[in-house]
Amino acid sequence: MLNKKIKKLLIGTNNKGKLREIRDLIPKKIKTYSTTDFNLKSPKENGKTFKENSLIKSKYFSNKSNLPCIADDSGLEIDLLNKKPGIFSARWGGKNSNFKKAIKRVYRELYRKDKNWMKRKIKGRFVCALSICNLDKKIGCVTGKIEGHIVYPPKGKNGFGYDPIFTPLNFKKTFAEMKPSQKYKIDHRFKAFKKIKKFL
Ligand code: IMP
Repeated sequence: MLNKKIKKLLIGTNNKGKLREIRDLIPKKIKTYSTTDFNLKSPKENGKTFKENSLIKSKYFSNKSNLPCIADDSGLEIDLLNKKPGIFSARWGGKNSNFKKAIKRVYRELYRKDKNWMKRKIKGRFVCALSICNLDKKIGCVTGKIEGHIVYPPKGKNGFGYDPIFTPLNFKKTFAEMKPSQKYKIDHRFKAFKKIKKFL
């Protein structure tokens, strides 16, 4: 079977935080490559769901590199914002992926919905769709989620993106206050990875 023969795998992301995390999860017997090894820019993400966008990336990067590729699409869903920013999570940071800007927008939109939002428990979740493609062939596509809530002000210096404003359920620390090794063992990407690793 094709999937059992994966010896080389491209990690299809230009996000350094994700690259580090996904690389840590891949079994050591597989040689991994990054998009910078091939000088690849990211494709346009014009899917309507996390899964669609993940598949766009894994197919695109696989075709460009001629290697099987694992790619994710992930983001933060906030219930009070009707699941926004969702698939637009990266885009809320603007062209330069400015996460401070993205966090400010979350706070601004929450305030618009409810001036007293800080007194409430604002439910949200990180979602990750992970897919593996070999050229145009889909080998697997799964999702993982972690539930939690949004906090104010941002706390912690680790991680990336919305980590400083997200506290997972049953924890007191935000993702950015946790050691990366602790976050990696519970987060949405890890949960998705547990489901996709049977294809490796
Ligand atoms: P994309 O999947 O590259 O389109 O972007 C996903 C965006 O969602 C990131 O740029 C972050 O803003 C956010 N995101 C996804 N996963 C995480 C995470 O583990 N921590 C913090 N932010 C995340």
